This record gives sequence, C-alpha cells and structure tokens, in this order.
Amino acid sequence: MPKPVPALPEPAHATVDSMLSRKFGKEVANYFSGSPLNRVSFLRPDHAFLSSALRHPSTAFVLFNELDPLVSSPHSLATVSYSDVKPVIGEDPFASSEEEVIKAYNSSTYLPQIIFLGLDERKGKEGFVYKEHYKGQPWFAVDVTPKESVKDAAEKLVEGMKAKGLDFQKGRMNMDLEAQDAAIYAEARHLLDWNARNPFCAACGYPTLSINAGFKRTCPPKDVAPSIQNPERPPCATRKGISNLCFPRTDPTVIMAVVSADGQRILLGRSKRFPPAWYSTLAGFLEPAESVEEAVRREVWEESGIHLGRVVIHSTQPWPYPANLMIGAIGQAIPGGEEIHLGHDAELEDAKWYTAEEVREALRVGTSGLGEEPGPDYKEGGLRLPPKTAIANQLISAVVNGFASGSPMI
Ligand SMILES: [Zn+2]
Repeated sequence: MPKPVPALPEPAHATVDSMLSRKFGKEVANYFSGSPLNRVSFLRPDHAFLSSALRHPSTAFVLFNELDPLVSSPHSLATVSYSDVKPVIGEDPFASSEEEVIKAYNSSTYLPQIIFLGLDERKGKEGFVYKEHYKGQPWFAVDVTPKESVKDAAEKLVEGMKAKGLDFQKGRMNMDLEAQDAAIYAEARHLLDWNARNPFCAACGYPTLSINAGFKRTCPPKDVAPSIQNPERPPCATRKGISNLCFPRTDPTVIMAVVSADGQRILLGRSKRFPPAWYSTLAGFLEPAESVEEAVRREVWEESGIHLGRVVIHSTQPWPYPANLMIGAIGQAIPGGEEIHLGHDAELEDAKWYTAEEVREALRVGTSGLGEEPGPDYKEGGLRLPPKTAIANQLISAVVNGFASGSPMI
C-alpha cells in the first residue's frame, strides 16, 4: 500500500474575499510552508527577550541529533522543556547582551547551536508576553548531537528521550510530518545545517560566532582562546558596512510545468535515478543575474530542446535540503518550438509530451514518493508522478485543472 501523504498547509486568510484571488485563483501553500510561528525577526538580537523566552515554562524545544529531529511519531515533532535541555545548553546562554557575547568570544568554547524559531500565536498559547505586543509560545531548536564539551550531557538527554519512547527520525528527508510541524522542522533544519556548514568567515577565514539566535554569524574582532597569542584579529570586511556574507543563504531553484503551444499537452521528463515509468516536471538552479522567467526558459531548452514563450510564477516551496527555495512556474512552448532534443545537457534520460487524460489518470492512481509504492489502482507501466507534498505535483495539477487555459484541459 502507498504511504499516506500529509495534507498541504492552508494558505493565509484563505476564506477572505480578495480581488487577487478572484483574478489569480486561490493561493497554493506548498508543503514546508505554512508555519504557525511568528518569527519576530527584529527581536533576535535582543538577549533580554531571548533569555525570558528560553526560560518560560510554556516554551517548546525541538531537538536535533545530527540534523535528525526528535519525533513522537513519523507525523509529529516531539517538544521538550527548558529543564530537559538545560544540562546541554547551560543555565542561560542569553544572560549577557549580544555585544558582550561578541566581546568575550573564545573560539575554543563549544556552544551547542540554538535557533529561536518564533512565537506560536495559535489559540491557547498566549502564556508568554514580551513588551505587551509579542505573545505566544516561544519555540527554539537545539542541536543536541553528543560531541565536544556537551558529549556526556547530550548522550544522557538522548537516552532519556529514548526511554520516554521518543526517537530521532532518521532519513535524508522528512516528508511525513503534518504540515505545520513540517514547516517548523524546515526552518530549524535549514538554519542548523547552515550554521554547521559555515564555521569560518567567508571574507577572512577566521572562525565565526553564531548570533541573532542562529540567524547570523559574525566575525568577532577578538578571540580570547588560550591557544591564541594575540587576541586581536586583523580587520575584516564583514565588520563594516553592509555585508551579506554572514547571513543564512537560500538558493533559488526553478521548477516548471511546460504546456504545449496549443495548450493540449504537458511536457514531463525523467532522470536516470527515477524508478521505471516515473516522470516529473523539469527543474534547475537559477543562475546569478538571471530572472526567474529566463532561468525557466534556459533550463527547459537545455534539458529538452523546447523553446518557451510566456512564463508565469505559480507558487513557491521552501526546501530545506539543504537550503533551497523552489520557484514553481508554468511556461508555454512557442509554436514550432516543441521538438524534443535531449542532446544539449545529459541531465534527462527521457522527455515526452503527455495528454491531459494521461496526466490526470497518473495523478489519480500513480503518485508516490521516490522509492515508494503507487496506489492499488495503478497498472504496471502506467505513468507515475510525484506526491502532492512536492511542488511538481501542484504545478502539474494546476495545468490540467486549467491554471493556464482558464478551464480544465480536455
Ligand atoms: Zn572575517
């Protein structure tokens, strides 16, 4: 039997009448978006805020061990309290101001990564209040991988969680979490991974310090580690003016459903790593100094030889593996530009034009994650497509349902 797929998140204010919805249709919120948390990003440098949020009795901590999240089931994140994580993170890592923390920087001290994820403003979670306006349940993510100076404390914590029947969900991707948990997990995973991959300054090469509750890394002017003779570091370009070297990166990728010039067929392609009969939309990286529309046209031509005309953006999907934003688009081939040629770029093993009927049938019976079984009505050899948690599925569905043509394709 195929695995059940989580429902997609609800778009914001979906029931409110809007001229934009009347013109462009209902907003599509893709899996990994739709977080219930208000990130209150402007409060991240404020250690008085972080300190009281961290120690509030309602605060939820999501734990990660080597980027695997602690879960109570494959569908739900598990959360723990301040007293559970205190042995690993210490009494209060935000006790002194951010400025003081930077001044006292010591590169030989291991600090488990902590991310402030936001305030959960859902009903019944208003226990924590800061400066009158900011209310909700604070959420943090903590890396409890047993290593360095916290090895013993983290091992004990991990064992304690396992004794409670909780476990760290292994696997390259987590696509079974219910939508709101998936969005919280995506934020945490993206930032934990970025911090772990960027321990050194991109401008001068010296070790950096995580600040802004995990959303920035700074290159401190001094390092008081005992092994370093002169604590003063040379000047670094990231310390003056505006620098984008210290902020988390999000890499844009384009992913697109391609419609024929007459609007009757959809182009799908397959890579060598896909199981037999499995096809999807084409996709690729947006390159520097390229518009989304240009990237879509370039990728489609390079991979399939097809020339696209008009391109419109449909919806987007955060993709924390490790740091992508998928920009979902729909493009239409120009008349005479529909001949498939796979020779430019060796990425695809095959690309084909499909009718709406074939695609609709595949959406009904043949969707699944890679490596999973399709539904019971699937007939061997029939077209297979990605599940609805993938933006590719949303783009293909949008096309057959009339996103481009105004009425469902026949
Ligand atoms: Zn530097």
